[in-house]
Amino acid sequence: MYPESDLLPISALQHLAFCERQCALIHIEQVWTENQFTAEGRALHKRTHSQHAETRGGVHTERGMPVRSLELGLAGMTDVVEFDENGVPFPVEYKRGRPKKGKMDEIQLCAEAICLEEMLGKAIPEGALFYGKIKRRKTIRFDEELRALTRAGALRLRELLSSGTTPPPVYGAKCKRCSLIENCLPKIFSRDKKVGLYVSRMLEKPIGEDTEATE
Ligand code: SF4
Repeated sequence: MYPESDLLPISALQHLAFCERQCALIHIEQVWTENQFTAEGRALHKRTHSQHAETRGGVHTERGMPVRSLELGLAGMTDVVEFDENGVPFPVEYKRGRPKKGKMDEIQLCAEAICLEEMLGKAIPEGALFYGKIKRRKTIRFDEELRALTRAGALRLRELLSSGTTPPPVYGAKCKRCSLIENCLPKIFSRDKKVGLYVSRMLEKPIGEDTEATE
């Protein structure tokens, strides 16, 4: 169990599941580049959170609910949580694009569900991801495999952030979708193995050892 004062953002877990380097750039080095997609995503979340709670057809809907899990050591805010007539929560996370190849959205949603379970004492078997491009919900079951992935991700996130070290880039298909590609320059370092190796070594060393800090 982690204390309230030592909780990490659930959003960082999603970044980690996408790419450890991206997670470290954002959460260790505080690098952030806004582009059309990140701006649209932020606007979508803002719109979703600003709508009021409502009850319709026996379903009560809460928006922008703060959640946390002391077991996972994570805290964040859900987009939408629907409560059925028995009070069972059904979290829904809004995404501007399409379903992705990796499990990052599922892991983020599962972390929110584990938070809600811990806070409300209710088992949550499933939730949904709503994708703006296809305007459809995808139901996600919180099975043992996804829960294990989420717990392992939370542990790895803590390990990465407390190391204070940004991993070197590994160029892949996901880089084309990454808002930090201009900051990361993965192609250059992946193309030139010697440069990549050099950068990896430098990243593992503290500033001042074989390198100079710039002002
Ligand atoms: S450009 Fe690629 S390697 Fe670099 S942070 Fe983004 S996803 Fe990771």
